Amino acid sequence: MIIKSILSRRHSNMLHLTIFFFCMMLAALAIVPTSSVQAKNNRSHFGVINEKRIDRLIASMTVEEKCAMLHMNSMFSSTGVERLGIPELRCTDGPFGVREELERNSWNPLHLTTDSATFFPTGSALAATWNPARAYQYGVALGEETRARGKQVILGPAVNITRTPINGRTFEYMSEDPYLNSRLVVGYITGVQSTGTASCVKHFAVNNQESNREAIDVRVDERALREIYLPAFKAAVREADVRCIMSAYNKMRGRYCGENGYLLDTIAKGEWGFKGLVMSDWAGTHSTVPAVLNGLDVEMGTDKYFTRPLLDSVKAGVVPMSVIDEKVRRILRVMLSVPRMKSVPAGGTIATAAHAKTAYQIASESIVLLKNSAKLLPLSAKTIKTIAVIGDNATRLNQSGGFGAGVKARLEVTPLAGLKNRAGKSISIVFAQGYESKFGVRGKKMHSVDTLNRQLVDEAVAAAQKADVAIIIAGNNRQVETEATDRTTLTLPFGQDELIEAVTAANPHTVVVVAAGAPVDLRTITRSASAVLYSWFNGSEGGNALADVLFGTVNPSGKLPFTFPATLDDSPAHMLKTFPGDSVTSYAEGILVGYRWFDTKQIAPVYCFGHGLSYTDFKYSNLKTNKQTYAAGEKIRVSLKLKNTGAMTGSEVVQIYVSDMDPKIFKAAQELKAFKKISVPRGTTANVDLDINASDLAYYDTAQMKWVVSPGKYRIQAGSSSRDIRDSVVITLN
Ligand code: BGC
Repeated sequence: MIIKSILSRRHSNMLHLTIFFFCMMLAALAIVPTSSVQAKNNRSHFGVINEKRIDRLIASMTVEEKCAMLHMNSMFSSTGVERLGIPELRCTDGPFGVREELERNSWNPLHLTTDSATFFPTGSALAATWNPARAYQYGVALGEETRARGKQVILGPAVNITRTPINGRTFEYMSEDPYLNSRLVVGYITGVQSTGTASCVKHFAVNNQESNREAIDVRVDERALREIYLPAFKAAVREADVRCIMSAYNKMRGRYCGENGYLLDTIAKGEWGFKGLVMSDWAGTHSTVPAVLNGLDVEMGTDKYFTRPLLDSVKAGVVPMSVIDEKVRRILRVMLSVPRMKSVPAGGTIATAAHAKTAYQIASESIVLLKNSAKLLPLSAKTIKTIAVIGDNATRLNQSGGFGAGVKARLEVTPLAGLKNRAGKSISIVFAQGYESKFGVRGKKMHSVDTLNRQLVDEAVAAAQKADVAIIIAGNNRQVETEATDRTTLTLPFGQDELIEAVTAANPHTVVVVAAGAPVDLRTITRSASAVLYSWFNGSEGGNALADVLFGTVNPSGKLPFTFPATLDDSPAHMLKTFPGDSVTSYAEGILVGYRWFDTKQIAPVYCFGHGLSYTDFKYSNLKTNKQTYAAGEKIRVSLKLKNTGAMTGSEVVQIYVSDMDPKIFKAAQELKAFKKISVPRGTTANVDLDINASDLAYYDTAQMKWVVSPGKYRIQAGSSSRDIRDSVVITLN
């Protein structure tokens, strides 16, 4: 069932061998010591860059030197100009930790003992915090680690929309909702860039599947493009002043994203005023003249098109020198915005206790309590004597695995280790593996082996029977969810549903924890387990955070950043049979992505967007707006009272969904327009204020090619999830 390509491209592919000399060049840049770390508020950093200095540098370069800057110089760097003191620009993956050091011209690791880093919770875990302040904190720590490794650019965040729940990279990405996505992306990038590291937002654009990703042509209508797929990129440029954009592998409307003038020139550089550089994804450049004339600045992962062929095209007059100068200018702007760095570490800190704490705080806030019947959770350390911990994921590391970027983590606390750390001496913990992570090969594809090993099941059942509580750590792993391949099903691999049914039948006090980065089919788990938690691929401190949630030291406050459908066919791309497409995929669902589809079509998911319980209860009251009628350009101030009526301090994410009550054109049933995470001590009431710009209620009018707010009545709904709306008010827009 889980089908995967066989993949050691990272170690064998010649394309990749050629890759990366680009990033190294910025690295050595002796040029600018702009006060990087002061830059908490560095939004117009590009604006203060000394363009005259860039003019002088460009004027003193030969055409050969300029062209050399536009392609890789090693796997992860672009070329510098030594004579002028311009170093290589060095990049590193990203997005959830700094990748281990590789050989200069291959994907082979150097096996150093000095390149361990912090493994931060992956994108979907960060998104489940619904907390932009945590995203900022994440960015700061990641930026510092990047810097400590002597790199200037971190290849993150990865912000493509969850169009299908089985996209292999869902764990790296954040959400199905453009607004939640944008708020987190701005936090992440602002944090990274406050440390003097440049951020590279990826993959621009509509890279929403891994199947045939290097050739698939995405046909997406303009409205869906603007309303769903581009907002996070736009926010990255306009609000966070991101330094770099990575173009996606796929095509959009017949053109590779790396030579798509509409995306790169018209929208990013034109409409949004992007001042930084566009690099291709690794081996994602496909031509010389079309790419160079349509917005791509740097060829990465290959040195085939922007090398001799580019120089020849310039000399032949096919590519004007002004185009080359403009690209060099963009690279120099990025270089001048990062601190002076040489090949030795220059500041920054890596794998520190402080960063582990950041990883812990994010993990703690990301864990989602999906179900808690009979209040099985939190576990009482006073009454429980024995816990059976069951499942291969209890001991499995998620820092790497599968294809693509991972982290060589100095520390990764597994769920079993976390439980042992936190349980105390009075509780005995028994571990049973329960199922095996095994793969077979069919044709050229890998698939999970889904038959259970009876002996492992019997051991798990016996352990559960003898224990006060059983905790099954189920889910996917990094081989199941991976770059370059999509899953083929939502069903849990390795026969886990059957194991879960056997264990829950043996002990009704069973908690199922799902460690995964993407939605899975939770029907069996929800039916059979009393309590269910989603704990993601949760970074260096994931196991400690999980144990703290299980024992109630931490009150869970995570909310789902995407919908959990009952079946794959309920999901729009699948119901409309547009996934994965052949050479073309048409986004026939238009703007109805994620909950917009489920709510508008009235299809019940297993768990909806925004769902997440707490160990306490919250009562919403007094929802109001500051006025009843608004003009365009005004701010709608929404306020409400939030009372913690339970016995424990907790955090709630108040979510505001807006419905157009009299739509002039087709609209989704409701859209998230504001949210706020707020901690409320037990027994107290908090006043919550949220602002929505009237202009944020606009839709994209494709006839006029602009955002339009239609006048009329709108329902403002406040809820604890997209389907748990507690109160609503109606306003009028003039
Ligand atoms: C991925 C990028 C990554 C690059 C370099 C590509 O395969 O799509 O996200 O940054 O490789 O490792």
